[in-house]
Amino acid sequence: MTIAAPPKRTFDPMLPRTGHYRPIPETEDKAFSVWLQGQFDEILSLSEAPPRCPHCESGQTVLATRAAHPKPVLPVFRCIACDVHFRRTTGTPLSGLKFRKLSLFICLLSQQRPVTEAAEAIGVKAVTVKRWIERTREWILQLDPTGHWDAKVRLGMEIRPDIPCPNCGETDHMHYRGFASDDGDRLFRCNACGQFARLSNVLRDQEPGFVLEHRVIARPPSSRRKR
Ligand SMILES: [Zn+2]
Ligand SMILES: [Zn+2]
Repeated sequence: MTIAAPPKRTFDPMLPRTGHYRPIPETEDKAFSVWLQGQFDEILSLSEAPPRCPHCESGQTVLATRAAHPKPVLPVFRCIACDVHFRRTTGTPLSGLKFRKLSLFICLLSQQRPVTEAAEAIGVKAVTVKRWIERTREWILQLDPTGHWDAKVRLGMEIRPDIPCPNCGETDHMHYRGFASDDGDRLFRCNACGQFARLSNVLRDQEPGFVLEHRVIARPPSSRRKR
């Protein structure tokens, strides 16, 4: 029996890491956005048809409160069997989240961009977008445990090329550092030896069929947050 490897997340090494010096091009995965929007439409639906109870799975459920302005935002249901109130989001990772400009967030989620840029576009704090990404990814993995759709999420992920330094041979020390001014080649710098390398040179030295992979790096928590 073979176990299918989890789908790989693909990144484009030629995209700038930040939009400071040149704008980051649109890289939305439209199929992902359509799928995710459909899932959101269902869970955030104003439909008053009672769903099954998330606690006891009973179908003996009724509408308790209509959605209204300003509250409740979503219709509230009651389970007759276990006498609890719930929304469609109850018991899911989306419970308690208040999304703003949801379709813009969905459009950004598959794109290789920093969180700060997305936060500015949406008009919320970066920590808020980070929380939305985390919870939405949890939910996506519940909806699709194969990881196919989760592998499309790239927003806010910091990447390192998974390649040893061509100068000193250290692994896991290369990172992207700008573009060559003459021909626009992608530049790497090695943290271990401090040398720069060009992407095209590194790729030229590989075996035929080589595919440049990337590691997603987790940034250590900001020291400013502790205050
Ligand atoms: Zn129940
Ligand atoms: Zn090196």
